Amino acid sequence: MRHRIAVVGSGPGGLAFARVMHRHDHPVTILERDPAPDARPPGGMLDLHQGLGQLALEKAGLLGEFEALSRPEAQAMRILDPDGTVLRDWRPRPQDRANPEIDRGQLRDLLLGPLGVRWGRDVTRVVPGARDGVLVHFADGRQETYDLVVGADGAWSRTRPAVSPVTPHYTGVTTVETSLDDVDTRHPHLARLVGDGSMAVYGAHRKLVAQRNSGGHVKVYAQFRAPLDWHTNLDPADAEAVRSSLLDLYDGWADPVLDLVRQGTTFVHRPLHVLPVSHTWTHVAGVTLLGDAAHLMPPLGAGANLAMLDGAELAEAIAAAPGDLDGAIRAFEEQMWARAGKWAKITTAGLERLMSPDPAEAIALFDEVQPS
Ligand SMILES: Cc1cc2nc3c(=O)[nH]c(=O)nc-3n(C[C@H](O)[C@H](O)[C@H](O)COP(=O)(O)OP(=O)(O)OC[C@H]3O[C@@H](n4cnc5c(N)ncnc54)[C@H](O)[C@@H]3O)c2cc1C
Repeated sequence: MRHRIAVVGSGPGGLAFARVMHRHDHPVTILERDPAPDARPPGGMLDLHQGLGQLALEKAGLLGEFEALSRPEAQAMRILDPDGTVLRDWRPRPQDRANPEIDRGQLRDLLLGPLGVRWGRDVTRVVPGARDGVLVHFADGRQETYDLVVGADGAWSRTRPAVSPVTPHYTGVTTVETSLDDVDTRHPHLARLVGDGSMAVYGAHRKLVAQRNSGGHVKVYAQFRAPLDWHTNLDPADAEAVRSSLLDLYDGWADPVLDLVRQGTTFVHRPLHVLPVSHTWTHVAGVTLLGDAAHLMPPLGAGANLAMLDGAELAEAIAAAPGDLDGAIRAFEEQMWARAGKWAKITTAGLERLMSPDPAEAIALFDEVQPS
């Protein structure tokens, strides 16, 4: 039986869903607000875990291609004291493929493969309960009808209100992101400082993380506790002003660490919002959510992994019960809520420890999760 299925959003979750559906010979309409795949910079690297993101890729038949593209050496992690002393310098063994990193753009292209996306389709509202299906409203005034609408439209989902009144709340922690290009040639001392993977420096209520991406690109994340209006008087386009307020905030930290901020080009402010830890909803026929739309949590390396596994499992559930679409969705939701609740607790507790007044807490967390 062919169902008319739309997925809103072509992030890792929406694409994993559509790709596994494609593998099961069931086309899905992908509705994406961005006008083109490269309309926005794709963001930093993602580490895909065995049993989560990698399992989703296996379900999509893409694990071999992922292994060829991903960078196992980027699992390396170095921790420094704010005075620059190296406290930990962990490197993966050559065969270690627990959490290899991949550029978001490469992951998107891998998942996209033969799929067609309807770019520039900005969904404003999803209304279940119509006689012939679920109504999808677009910003340009058009409407379409589907048997199932999957909301994979991220933190500020426009699909979510169809099933849940809950909206994300601010964690009290914010991030300012910057980046450096061509680091091996232009900033060799910073290339050495960051190494092959990531480098983190923990202070009281703040941290600074740098992550090597492919092509000599380094992403830098300054993360700290601050009121939501921290940046109200700061124009993000005024790189000098943002840089100087960050340097004030990290005053006293070692020079090479602060160079990561000094050399940063553009700055982007990303306050961390989350959904409640056990966000569920009363099942609504014809609409479901996955990924950040369902369970936005602190960014501690799980979100994209969970979104992809949600997508792959939902597709498999639908393919396994073609005559019982509603039953498949109910079963998927129960499974997703259980897994997401567990990870939301882990990442919420993790964020508290990373932002603790005592930086030793953050290092203890690293020691607990890092394989020896
Ligand atoms: C700094 C940072 C680092 C992170 N690092 C990691 C990591 O290492 N590992 C990890 O697993 N996770 C990581 N995450 C979390 C991860 O990025 C998210 O959890 C993941 O992207 C969620 O995927 P998604 O498909 O649910 O949503 P998204 O990736 O947010 O995709 C949503 C898509 O929906 C589209 N969309 C939105 N609204 C509409 C609309 N109205 N109409 C149509 N389309 C719409 C958007 O344009 C977008 O393409 C990190 C997050 C941050 C902020």
